[in-house]
Amino acid sequence: MSAHPATPAASGILHVVATPIGNLGDLSPRARDTLRAVAAICAEDTRHTRQLLGHFGIERPLVALHEHNEDALAERLVARLLDGESLALVSDAGTPLVSDPGFRLVRAARAAGIRVSPVPGPSALVAALSVAGLPSDRFVFEGFLPAKAGARRERLQALAAEPRTLLFYESSHRIDAMLADAAQAFGPDRPAVLARELTKLFETVLDGSLGDLHARVLADPNQRKGEFVVLVQGAGEDSDARTVEGRRVYAALVAHLPPSTAARVAAELTGASRKDLYGSGGSSPGTGDA
Ligand code: SAM
Repeated sequence: MSAHPATPAASGILHVVATPIGNLGDLSPRARDTLRAVAAICAEDTRHTRQLLGHFGIERPLVALHEHNEDALAERLVARLLDGESLALVSDAGTPLVSDPGFRLVRAARAAGIRVSPVPGPSALVAALSVAGLPSDRFVFEGFLPAKAGARRERLQALAAEPRTLLFYESSHRIDAMLADAAQAFGPDRPAVLARELTKLFETVLDGSLGDLHARVLADPNQRKGEFVVLVQGAGEDSDARTVEGRRVYAALVAHLPPSTAARVAAELTGASRKDLYGSGGSSPGTGDA
């Protein structure tokens, strides 16, 4: 919590406004009122936002704010806010700042003592969590995994013993490789959910083991289309966690030792079963760098 340095009395408000992730009916009445009332709307892709506004008959000036100009623009936008203009910040879909631009502007506005106020609404991560049926009291949002296979596998491996439910954003280009790598890192039996095209015509929420889900995505090209949230149940606290740790150690050892020796040593070190480790590490076939 940070107390504002004397908030300039006449300054405007920066409204951070969530927009639909697929269904226009999800733009809240308060979001519409706010977007109508501000001096300008900062948008990631102005053409996209103009279409959304057009649907609701809202006409306001738009300012393009994306990751490449956000630093440079933040200062000018803060000056406008200090001058008394209220602004809105939106992204192409969902909640700004959630795997979307806006963090630098919000930080700069708060540092200048400007009031930053949320107009909450859709976000794919919360929508997915709300229908997945996985433990939801504690969860970890990992956003997008690295595009390169090596870095992606490393990140997944580092998360393998995480006990909280894991959420990832993924695109149609990499969903196949991501599920293959996740099955490798977490084990093919780990329960998971694939939430696709939420709130849209082809909304699908599939549950099963990571191995099953990968097989279903491979078998049906339609299941590889659209936008995805991948949810993975956290590692159990006992044997599941030992197996996960054992696989991590095995993956490191097998680069230097024969697989049977690597499995025996990893099992001794971690308490995992040797048969759960043997053959579990190394590179996964057919999932090269994206
Ligand atoms: N700010 C957005 C939010 O609050 O959810 C996320 C923006 S991020 C650039 C886009 C990613 O969000 C997509 O690649 C996908 O992983 C996820 N996503 C967005 N809309 C979705 C939907 N309707 N169904 C499933 N996933 C979605």
